[in-house]
Amino acid sequence: MFAAGVLFAALLLAVCLAANQLASELVSNRLRNLSLEGNATLQVLGGQVSKTLQGLNALELPAQCTPELFGRIATLVKEQRYIYESAVRLSSGAVCSSYGQAFASTKLPAKEDAGYYPAGDGRSYWFQTGREVSADAGALVIGQFSAYLWLNKGILLDVLRMPAEVSFNLVDEQSLQSRFSSDNRLLKIERRLEPGQVEFTNGMIHLATPVKWVGLVGVLTLPYSAYREAWWWSFAGLLGASIVLLLGLYCGASYLYARHFSLPAKLRCALQNNQLSLHYQPIVNMHNGQWKGAEALLRWRVKGQPISPEVFIPAAENSGMIAELTRWVCQRVAEDYAEYLWACKDFYITINLSATDVTDASFPDFVEALFKRYDISPVQIVFEVTEGALLDKEQAIIQLQRLRDQGHKIAIDDFGTGYSSLAYLEQLPIDILKIDRSFLTPDKLHSSDGLWWHVVSMARSLNLSVVAEGVEIPQQVDPLILAGVSLAQGWLYSKDLPVDKLAKSYFSCADPALSAAI
Ligand code: C2E
Ligand code: MG
Ligand code: MG
Repeated sequence: MFAAGVLFAALLLAVCLAANQLASELVSNRLRNLSLEGNATLQVLGGQVSKTLQGLNALELPAQCTPELFGRIATLVKEQRYIYESAVRLSSGAVCSSYGQAFASTKLPAKEDAGYYPAGDGRSYWFQTGREVSADAGALVIGQFSAYLWLNKGILLDVLRMPAEVSFNLVDEQSLQSRFSSDNRLLKIERRLEPGQVEFTNGMIHLATPVKWVGLVGVLTLPYSAYREAWWWSFAGLLGASIVLLLGLYCGASYLYARHFSLPAKLRCALQNNQLSLHYQPIVNMHNGQWKGAEALLRWRVKGQPISPEVFIPAAENSGMIAELTRWVCQRVAEDYAEYLWACKDFYITINLSATDVTDASFPDFVEALFKRYDISPVQIVFEVTEGALLDKEQAIIQLQRLRDQGHKIAIDDFGTGYSSLAYLEQLPIDILKIDRSFLTPDKLHSSDGLWWHVVSMARSLNLSVVAEGVEIPQQVDPLILAGVSLAQGWLYSKDLPVDKLAKSYFSCADPALSAAI
């Protein structure tokens, strides 16, 4: 839990840092792209201004405005889309405009006017003079010698195509004061800006355009909120992507683990490579010590270490491998029986079934064909099911009955560990009741509560043969025999054995007449 918390905190930190970087990049790229477009526009504008001023100053000026002069001035302006109006001042003081009007030079902007900016090379600029000819023309007036231009602010801003939150300023390099602003918010820059570099200063994001325009630096400005917005988007995107990536990695790792390293994967491998073995634990007649049968128990060793069936059987059940495993056990039992146990008189082998086997409609057919092939009578093979394997009772009854019809006996295994009553058992097609060892501990066998005893007597009244599980010491034997239990399975008699040892031991303790038969 702690490790997961640390991991998540580290992920958040990494995402925050990456969002920081990404947001800066996004904002910078946005400004750079706008700057590229703006620069091109300013260059065209600069060209039009120079050409028109040159043309105006080259005109031969008469003493008074004449229709011919008006015409020439208008021609110079006609093709220049950014130039709203132009005019020349005559030596007489009259001013002739491209609109064919004459007006007094007092109407021209003067040095004292607000927004005056001497740009060198004989040019003067008036930014936001307050003497607007029209709302569109008022932004910038340029004068050089006797020529004057009014720039078309509307077209200029349209072409600059600044988004609402971006402000474009022309800033005086010396005073760092903005002279022209696309949104009428004149800036005062804190320090000189490196052209082409995005700077985060004073809660604003600035980019100075690489090309200067008449001693003024174009500055594009975004409010800091644009960065914050970009940061949140980046953060959300990166966090989402990281989570998707981590989930993907997790799923991939889980898949790889499940495929190659998990217990079911190793078990599958063991099954395919024949690394599983089958042992048999004898079921003994307590009266005379004769072996009546044996339970087939799967054994699996990994690197020499045994793995308990209590561990790998549930893993096989959960991973859907159990059907294959049970069929492997049946096959091995058939082979072992045919090779080692065929001469054992009335000797049966019990095979444990799981819930999947009990509801598998093809299982009885498989069993029938298999034991027929090995010429093994169905009475020699008993199937054990625990109460837990009978969850789908209707289906289980059908399958168990089919096995029974073939001649197999059915045993209820570990009886007492589930929740079913003996009345429940009455409905099942069963022949043998194996009482779980937890019921038959020496103290319980000698105690007066006698629950086990009731189980035994009711089982007998249901005509079920009883097998006592987990008989470990001689003291367990007498009470069981007294209660009428003849068969037992437990370490007192034998642990589970490989088939060759089982056969050998069977014949060494069996009737000499039988031993002679093999
Ligand atoms: P189970 O079917 O009840 O098998 C009897 C278990 O009790 C075996 O444990 C056996 O070794 C153990 N046992 C026998 N005598 C004594 C004794 O005197 N004292 C004690 N304490 N234990 C004794 P094992 O081999 O560990 O198997 C455990 C369970 O795994 C089995 O219980 C069975 O449910 C399952 N199992 C084993 N092999 C298979 C198999 O091939 N298929 C299926 N579906 N389940 C299997
Ligand atoms: Mg069993
Ligand atoms: Mg058992």
